Amino acid sequence: MTPDALKSLIRTIPDFPKPGIEFRDITTLIGHGEGFAACVAMLAERAQAAGAQAIAGMEARGFIFGAAVAAKLALPFIPVRKPGKLPVPVLAVDYALEYGTDRLEVDPDAVGAGQRVVVVDDLIATGGTALAAVQLLRRAGGEVAQALFVIDLPDLGGAEKLREAGVPVQAVMAFA
Ligand code: 5GP
Repeated sequence: MTPDALKSLIRTIPDFPKPGIEFRDITTLIGHGEGFAACVAMLAERAQAAGAQAIAGMEARGFIFGAAVAAKLALPFIPVRKPGKLPVPVLAVDYALEYGTDRLEVDPDAVGAGQRVVVVDDLIATGGTALAAVQLLRRAGGEVAQALFVIDLPDLGGAEKLREAGVPVQAVMAFA
């Protein structure tokens, strides 16, 4: 399947989660077996080209794609979690949302010293989530070799911010 065919599997929901936002919904992509497999294969190819030694995914939709990529490449998967979920002492990073803040956590033992980690999430918008994940993985001793997304919203500037932070970025498709 081509990236354009995959793009046609994304469902756009107007005014979710609030008025004026067009939500790009991946439920319809992962609900299409051939489409999901093709998307995971494209991400895995790029992760392999970046020399990935581990794949990190952000809760929750990053788990869907990241874990599938990790299993396809037989690499470790590092869950970057929402607060309070991990049963061990964690590293945590707070990051700004439009209103308020949120937090991501990682088990420091899940990241090897100098390990080349590829970050996977479903979508990059402002880049706040991905930048927080990169900060966490670096603090845990990893080297973030690449960030991969199914969808980039380039008008929101997140991919640019990640590149400025020294992380190469690729996405399967963009909605501009
Ligand atoms: P950012 O932190 O880059 O502004 O937002 C990206 C995060 O919010 C990702 O973890 C992503 O799952 C979620 N997100 C924000 N907008 C959308 C959207 O339109 N569709 C989907 N599927 N996720 C979104």
